[in-house]
Amino acid sequence: MDQILKKIANFLREYQDIYGKEMFVDDTKISQMADQFSITVDEMDDDSITSEKIFKLEDQPETPLWNFMRQIKDCTKCPLGHTRTKFVFGDGSEKAEIMFIGEAPGADEDRTGIPFVGRAGQLLNKLLAHIKVNREDVFIANILKCRPPNNRDPQPAEVKECLPYLHKQIELIQPKVIVSLGRIAAQNLLNTTATLKQLRERLWQYQGVTMIVTYHPAAILRNMGLLNQTIEDFKFIHKTYQEIRQRQKSV
Ligand code: URA
Repeated sequence: MDQILKKIANFLREYQDIYGKEMFVDDTKISQMADQFSITVDEMDDDSITSEKIFKLEDQPETPLWNFMRQIKDCTKCPLGHTRTKFVFGDGSEKAEIMFIGEAPGADEDRTGIPFVGRAGQLLNKLLAHIKVNREDVFIANILKCRPPNNRDPQPAEVKECLPYLHKQIELIQPKVIVSLGRIAAQNLLNTTATLKQLRERLWQYQGVTMIVTYHPAAILRNMGLLNQTIEDFKFIHKTYQEIRQRQKSV
């Protein structure tokens, strides 16, 4: 019962983020919006949720980023270090110019050690494909490296212990653009209680890097009405990235 109430509360919070305090429901409009795009939830078949690719640190090169993981992978600075299956450091290219930051590993990520491999991850891959970016060329990490029990929100003490790891990752990767996925990640990174409506569609600075806030893919899976705006956010991410590249090339 608690889980159902939590889901309803999450849905209403996301709804309020977009539409404000007024509630209206128009099924036809929402499905028309989803139909406009090549991405649909139905396309994502459950069998491929995890290809059971398991992260293996021994496959990673002896480079500063992966050596940093070797240093911190047994972390028990917060209680999540005792309940996790796998430490989910991150996935992608050490030379990534775009870095995505989610909230925390879920069950699929905890089992495989790879961030965003579940349905939310598949949707993220499709959104990337929409702007012609390969997942292998970006870097994906989370605020927390270990799964909170029952996917509850990260607690302030956990964020405080884990955030320095993310900062070091940003320092080593040096992305040109950071994308914060969802309200919880954005609020923790920007130390704010602002809503997604206030945080989206503008540029922020985080650790000296340009940052854009968009919806969490899991929120889109719960509410396809968000897809339209998320696709616009991804176009904005791509445009911003291209502009920064151009600017840096010409100096
Ligand atoms: N949600 C997140 O925020 N991160 C993941 O890695 C998976 C789901």
